[in-house]
Amino acid sequence: MNAPTQITGAVTPLRERGQHEVFCGLTSIVWLHRKMQDTFFLVVGSRTCAHLMQSAAGVMIFAEPRFATAVIDERDLAGMADLHDELDKIVARVIARRPEIRMLVLVGSCPSEVIKLDLAKAAERLSRLHGPAVRFLHYSGSGIETTFTQGEDNFLAALARELPAEEPGAAPSLIVAGALADVVEDQFTRIFNALGIGPVAFLPPRASTALPAIGPNTRLLLAQPYLGEAAKALEARGATILPAPFPLGEEGTTAWLGAAAAAFGVEPGRFAAITDAGRSRARAAVARHKAALAGKRIFLFPDSQIEPALARFLAREAGCDIIEIGTPYLHRGHLAPEFALLPAGIPVSEGQDVDRQLDRCRAARPDLVVCGMGLANPLEAEGLATKWSIELVFTPIQGYEQAGDLAELFTRPLTRRDKLAADL
Ligand code: SF4
Repeated sequence: MNAPTQITGAVTPLRERGQHEVFCGLTSIVWLHRKMQDTFFLVVGSRTCAHLMQSAAGVMIFAEPRFATAVIDERDLAGMADLHDELDKIVARVIARRPEIRMLVLVGSCPSEVIKLDLAKAAERLSRLHGPAVRFLHYSGSGIETTFTQGEDNFLAALARELPAEEPGAAPSLIVAGALADVVEDQFTRIFNALGIGPVAFLPPRASTALPAIGPNTRLLLAQPYLGEAAKALEARGATILPAPFPLGEEGTTAWLGAAAAAFGVEPGRFAAITDAGRSRARAAVARHKAALAGKRIFLFPDSQIEPALARFLAREAGCDIIEIGTPYLHRGHLAPEFALLPAGIPVSEGQDVDRQLDRCRAARPDLVVCGMGLANPLEAEGLATKWSIELVFTPIQGYEQAGDLAELFTRPLTRRDKLAADL
């Protein structure tokens, strides 16, 4: 069996390149369209894509969701010719029915017909037809190129190119990149205001008409670990990244806020005065779950790219033993502050080779496996407790007030397994 590399200082993970079982980038539309209230996501794809979108969103009730699928597969070459006309008709229909829409995003997918279609050109043409009332963007959510969190990454990279340039000599400003639940965003806004940090903008914004300006005076704080392309695009516009761990748990949140505080010259005494109460609440909330989590052996499959930050929280704040951290892609720069905090020697694997990872997982018999939905059922059937990693993307887990909820997401499957064992 091929063993993942032990990390000692520098990150040198085992690279896995085999069969993978991860949702494609279209899935991110489910949380992105909730976030941006004036934006419509039009998937240009196949019936499979339409089905995925329906079932992914099926967990939520929508009167009229702001996304749809233009089904364009099953065509011959002659049919390809009028594809653009058809796309134009669908877009015109969406805009007529939804006059509140200010941004329409064309999302590419896998079918070969879609790959042949130039969505950049389509977006340009549609801008000429409908602009400036509606802004058109495009990105790829194809399962060939993206996992579910990379869909958001590609979208934010497209959005980064649309941001207006800041005025020359503008005062320093902060952009927080990565979709956060509104409740989390509001909490962070209150803390940034109290610290005197600002102006602060969140990306994606709640309205496409409120795109923040960007330039050399913009500081960038990443709220999510999966923003490789978006960060590159934002840096290309002049922004400077503030390196920090991600805002998970008391420690991660404090270090993340601390990076912004240091960049904006906040006095340490003021920082402590503003954050102390939140830190205590977070510590107390996690402590309530510590008895259930301490010493538990946890195996994380690669799914969302959040895995190293989750492992850091579980190891350092909840007292768990991490057996392996899998991540579909490891951005060494963005994740360096996480690895600086992680206990040395935890095996890390990058990419996915399901069968080999399953072998290692089964051999280790962990107390809890964090994995995709496809792996959860078979592992549960083998008596292993599992946590769906996608839940950790859908649930508000960042910040002080959510630290307890984050810990609870891991205690729940353990409690359920103990109950099942007691009932037998
Ligand atoms: Fe559509 Fe490809 Fe995603 Fe399947 S993997 S739903 S074909 S984009």
